[in-house]
Amino acid sequence: MEPNTTVIARSSATPTDGPWRPLEDRIRDQDRSGDLTPVVFRQVKARPAVDCPCGFRDAFAEFGIGRHEAQHELWSIGLPIPKNITWEHGNVAVVTPQSSVTWRRLVAKVALAPKRENGYDFTTWEAGDRPKPSLTNRRAYLLRFQRYIIGYLVAEDRDHHQRWTLDPDDAYTGDDSTTRASIDLIWTASVHRGKAVGSALVQTLADSAECPLTELSWSTPLSPAGQRLARRVSPNGIWVH
Ligand SMILES: [Zn+2]
Repeated sequence: MEPNTTVIARSSATPTDGPWRPLEDRIRDQDRSGDLTPVVFRQVKARPAVDCPCGFRDAFAEFGIGRHEAQHELWSIGLPIPKNITWEHGNVAVVTPQSSVTWRRLVAKVALAPKRENGYDFTTWEAGDRPKPSLTNRRAYLLRFQRYIIGYLVAEDRDHHQRWTLDPDDAYTGDDSTTRASIDLIWTASVHRGKAVGSALVQTLADSAECPLTELSWSTPLSPAGQRLARRVSPNGIWVH
């Protein structure tokens, strides 16, 4: 108990004790006593990453400083929910092109993460100038964890589908014109992958469309992660568009 008390008392007294000195002087003071030896430097061959998995090219070069960190944070831990967003309850928010502009912009920000990661030319969500009804019932499902949005699924209703066995060697077959809730994209913040965030979002979509998981349609081509998810929720094959 005694040593701690002494330290706290000394540090809290420091600002008023003696004349004020610049921080550098105080740091230099810490080297004055004892045996100081210089740091040794060496050069080794190493091949660190140039491009980052978040999608930032030449991510560690001068021009990436600051910009890359911002992009990387969104990709890895998700989007912090801004203060002007009222998230009423539950952990999923369903946003449409007719939601308020704060919500539409929020989705547009999240949509940047998969756009950059996958190097898409186009984003999967535009905030738009004004609320506008969607003829295809386009909607985004945002999944939150604590104060972050960590999952994003965008879907619309489509009526042109084919069937796929989920075997990479098999072609898509048939011609189905049922109106189906159709997944355009699923994205999970990197640190939360493998934690069933994607399947929770797919379940939410099926629940709100009031259809079984096996009746949803998936956008092609499916990424390897998308194929794993599809196999889990619909092992006997899926509808694709
Ligand atoms: Zn990165």
